[in-house]
Amino acid sequence: MQEAIRETAQSRLNEITSHMSAAAKLAGRAPEDVTLIAVSKTRSVSDIEPLIRAGHRNYGENRIQEAQAKWPELKNLDAGIVLHLIGQLQSNKAAEAVSLFDIIHSLDRLSLATALGKAMRDQDRFLPCFIQVNIGAEPQKGGCAIEALPELLAATQAEIIPVAGLMCLPPADMEPAPFFALLAELSARYGLDGLSMGMSGDFQTAIMLGATHIRVGTALFGERV
Ligand SMILES: *Cc1c(COP(=O)(O)O)cnc(C)c1O
Repeated sequence: MQEAIRETAQSRLNEITSHMSAAAKLAGRAPEDVTLIAVSKTRSVSDIEPLIRAGHRNYGENRIQEAQAKWPELKNLDAGIVLHLIGQLQSNKAAEAVSLFDIIHSLDRLSLATALGKAMRDQDRFLPCFIQVNIGAEPQKGGCAIEALPELLAATQAEIIPVAGLMCLPPADMEPAPFFALLAELSARYGLDGLSMGMSGDFQTAIMLGATHIRVGTALFGERV
């Protein structure tokens, strides 16, 4: 049983990796410049373990509490694990996020920059942060408005927060490519390197448009229940 699960996770991982390489090559990019984040939210420790044993090291979670319950144990399996926070973060959880995670993808407002800056200095742990941009200007969604980016970038500098790049989640019901292209353009405008964009359904498109980090859940683990 355990063996069967491992095979499945590993074969999906191999399949996704080969699609990633193909997309990178088409765009004239090096496949190793794109990091696959296995989005393990809602998955149990026993779902995740086979992927760790297969050698995969980058994982993404969207809730602090769930991550705190699963990852201290899982991190013991491989010292090289890199844990990404991909969900909205409340300022009062900033210290917990800084102590558990390695990279944050959801820095999206001034108050959070202040809280994260303080937590990082207190813990002497300076985590790279992606600025999440509300790329489709959707009122219900997290993310910094495009017009507010310069001010938020200035705040990260003042708080000594390392900025890894920009992150987005395009509107669910629209063609994602124009939003990925817009994020890439913003990243170039502000001289940033990283682009966290692309999920199970659109990661090849995202890679062709410059993604450095793709966040893939269902294509790796199956449908969430
Ligand atoms: C859940 C989630 C993903 C993964 O989505 P899939 O469609 O399952 O690949 C990516 N990014 C964020 C921010 C998520 O919350």
